[in-house]
Amino acid sequence: MPATTSALFQKLPSTDELLQHPQLRSRAERDGHAALADAIRAVLARLREQIAKDRLDEKSLDLALAGLPDAVERQLRQSLSYSLRPVINATGVILHTNLGRAPLASSAFDHIRQTALAYSNLEFDLATGERGKRDIHVDRLFQKLFAEHGGTGAPPLQAEHAGTATHGCPADQISALATIIVNNNAAAVLLALNSLAEGGEVIVSRGELVEIGGSFRIPDVMSKSQATLREVGTTNRTRVDDYERAITDRTRLLLRVHRSNFAITGFTEQPTLIELAELARRRNLPLMEDLGSGALFDLRSVGIANEPGVLDSLRAGVDLVTYSGDKLLGGPQSGLITGRAGLVARLRSNSLFRALRVDKLIYAALEATLLAYVKGDHAAVPILRMMRLSKDEIASRAEVLTARINSRTSQGGQQRGLPTGSPKLRAELCDGESVIGGGAAPTAVLPTRLIALIHRDLSADDLCRRLRQADPPIIARVEDARVLLDLRTVFPAQDSVIGDFLSSVA
Ligand SMILES: *Cc1c(COP(=O)(O)O)cnc(C)c1O
Repeated sequence: MPATTSALFQKLPSTDELLQHPQLRSRAERDGHAALADAIRAVLARLREQIAKDRLDEKSLDLALAGLPDAVERQLRQSLSYSLRPVINATGVILHTNLGRAPLASSAFDHIRQTALAYSNLEFDLATGERGKRDIHVDRLFQKLFAEHGGTGAPPLQAEHAGTATHGCPADQISALATIIVNNNAAAVLLALNSLAEGGEVIVSRGELVEIGGSFRIPDVMSKSQATLREVGTTNRTRVDDYERAITDRTRLLLRVHRSNFAITGFTEQPTLIELAELARRRNLPLMEDLGSGALFDLRSVGIANEPGVLDSLRAGVDLVTYSGDKLLGGPQSGLITGRAGLVARLRSNSLFRALRVDKLIYAALEATLLAYVKGDHAAVPILRMMRLSKDEIASRAEVLTARINSRTSQGGQQRGLPTGSPKLRAELCDGESVIGGGAAPTAVLPTRLIALIHRDLSADDLCRRLRQADPPIIARVEDARVLLDLRTVFPAQDSVIGDFLSSVA
C-alpha cells in the first residue's frame, strides 16, 4: 500500500545523519569522507529499491536499519579493495582467456618489479649514450632462439606440418629474421595487414575466415587495415590453384590463418605451407601466417601432435608470422611479429606501430620469459609445467585432497549428529581431460584425473557459486550435476586452500 511504503521510506536516515554516526565517523578519518559518503549512498539506495519493490515490511526494515553502520562498513571495505583479484583455476583449461591466460614465470614478475620501480634503459643505448630502440631487449633473445634451432640444420620440429625438411626456408634465411612486439596478436595482424596490403588485396581461404573469442574476426580486421579481403576456395576445401587463380596485380599478400579454436574434419583439403610458400615466391608475394598461439617449444614433447610452432612456419617458408605472447609462449599479453627483416622494417616504420607499442613492463616480462627458453629452463614457465604434468602426478595430489575432503566431511557429519556414511560433501576421482585453451590446439587434450564433488544440500551450480565466493575464488566446472576440479591448472601450493574451503562447506 502506498501509505505504508512512504512511511517506510521516511524511516530511512539521511546520508548526513549516517555520516555523523559514531561508528562511521572514524571511518571517514581513515578512508576519506567521499568514499564513506559513496558507501552510505549505495547502501541506502539498495534499501530504497527493496522498499519500492515491496520486499521489506516494517519489521525487516527495522532489522536492516539496526545493522546499517555495519552494512556501510562492509560496502566501504568492498569498494576500497581491488576488483582485479587472483583466483584458483580448477577448470583444467590451461590458457583460459577469461582467467587471464598464462600466469607468469616468477622470474618475469621479479624483472617487472625491478623495472617498474626504477628508471631503465628502455630506449637508451648505454654504450653510446644515445637513443636506443625498445625492441632490442627481446629481439636479441628471439635471434638466439631462432638461430639455435634454425641455423644448425636440425630437422623441423614437426615435419608433418612443415612437409619435408628439404623444402622451405634455407637455414641462412631463417637467421635474417627480426621480431617486433605490439599490444596483442590482434594488433599484430592489423599492423601487418595495413603495412603490407593497404589499398590492395589479401588472399585468404574461406575455411580460415575465423572468429577468435572476444570479437577478433579476420574480415573485420582486414577492413580496418584498409586491405581488401579476397576469399578463395570453400569452407572445407581450398587448393593452391585457388590462390593462384585469384592473384592479380592488386594482390599484396597471401594470408594463412591458423584455425585456433575449431577443427574442420571429413572431406577437407588445405594446401601445405610449403606449397603456399612456393607459390608466394614464384609470384613474388609475401606469405603471412596468423599463427595465434605460437609455441616456442616442441609440442610433441607434451603429447600434442599437429600443432605447428613458430619455427615450423618459418622453416616452411612463411615470410611473416604473428602470434600471441600470452598463449603457448607463456608470457605477458603481447603480439609478436617475426619474419624477414625487410618486411618487419616496413611494419616498424608504420605510424600504427607507435600506437600499438607496449610498455616497459611487458618487455620486462617477455624478456624474462624468453630467457627461460634460451636457458632451456622450461620448468620456469608455469603453463609448460602444467602441460607436462602426468596424469599420475595429478592423480596423487587429487587423492590426497579427496581423502581429506571425505574424512573431514564424515567427521563433520558425526559432530553435527548426522548419520555417518551420509556426509554432506562427497568427493570421488574420475578420469577426464584437460585442454590447452586460448585458441591453441583445439582438438588436443591432456589426460587427467578429476575430483568430482556432490553436495547433499547444494546443487552443483550452487556449490560452484560457493566456490567462487571463496577467498581466493575457486573456479570449477559443472558436468552431469557434479562439480569437477582439475588440479592440472591449480598450483600445488593451492591444493590446501581448496581443501580448507571445502572443509568449510562439508
Ligand atoms: C588468439 C588468436 C588471435 C588473437 O590474439 P590476441 O593475442 O588475443 O589478440 C588472433 N588469431 C588467432 C589465430 C588466434 O588464435
